[in-house]
Amino acid sequence: MSITQDTLQKFIFDNAAVRGELIDISATWREVQARHDYPAAVKKVLGQMTAAAALLSANLKFNGSIIMQIHGDGPVRLLVVECDAELRLRATAKLNPDVTIADDSNLTALLNAHGKGRFIITLDPLEKVPGQQPYQGVVPLDGDDVATVIENYMLRSEQLDTKLWLAADDHVSRGLLLQKLPYHGGKAEATPLNQEEALETWNRAVILGSTLKEQELLETGIDVLIQRLFWEETIRVFDPLHPQFHCSCTREKVGNMLKMLGPEEVEGVIAERGTVAVNCDFCGQHYEYDKVDCAQLFASNAPVETLLPAGEAKH
Ligand SMILES: [Zn+2]
Repeated sequence: MSITQDTLQKFIFDNAAVRGELIDISATWREVQARHDYPAAVKKVLGQMTAAAALLSANLKFNGSIIMQIHGDGPVRLLVVECDAELRLRATAKLNPDVTIADDSNLTALLNAHGKGRFIITLDPLEKVPGQQPYQGVVPLDGDDVATVIENYMLRSEQLDTKLWLAADDHVSRGLLLQKLPYHGGKAEATPLNQEEALETWNRAVILGSTLKEQELLETGIDVLIQRLFWEETIRVFDPLHPQFHCSCTREKVGNMLKMLGPEEVEGVIAERGTVAVNCDFCGQHYEYDKVDCAQLFASNAPVETLLPAGEAKH
């Protein structure tokens, strides 16, 4: 097994007009796929979303998880990518049963066949004040690919000029993000000249980014790309960050989910099959609850986390 580490490289243009990020999240992306066999078109979109979630997460001044979802009305029902503050990610797709998906299906064909697809971004803070709800933005699927949908979202909801280039296949997921920094006069006083310079830098950065083709992004490491794209620019490069795959599922969380289903439904399954078996959608982890486990779930009003692990409780 080869040990590869994913890398997210932040950089900033010298006059602080534009910030950028390049990401190679291929190892994480292969972990996501390890327990699923998605059609090629789904891989492409979900792989791109995985890169985009990490790029946005690293870009936000926010301590918590970002959850990116696309609810579809076509052959794909749902795509989810979660990324926490430490850039640990998990992702999954839910497809309608018995659908055939052509390899060249784009985002619209997969998820917005009837114009009812929705793009949802949730920001879930790590430390919530009591009663605080996660922030959630819901917008129509405005664009035929992941990059366009996110660019439109960032412009309309966050008033931020953002450009994304994303590429993913079976093995690789990489991306580039450029963002025009809100103009606060830069280092010096706000003068029309500085503002003009800032806009020029942004325009130049976008032109350089636009030379990047999907195939080139799939084939080229990000250390080479940063040189190739921006060698004529003065940019400052930060210490690299390292995104990785991580699933946050636990026996306790799955137990809570069963609790929410209610005793009738759970006991019905026990009567029929002897145990309730649940596989995590993200990592495939198998959880099983027998009659005693389930009785214990519903007997207690205490939060499930405080219960003993089922194995010990039965002794
Ligand atoms: Zn899991």
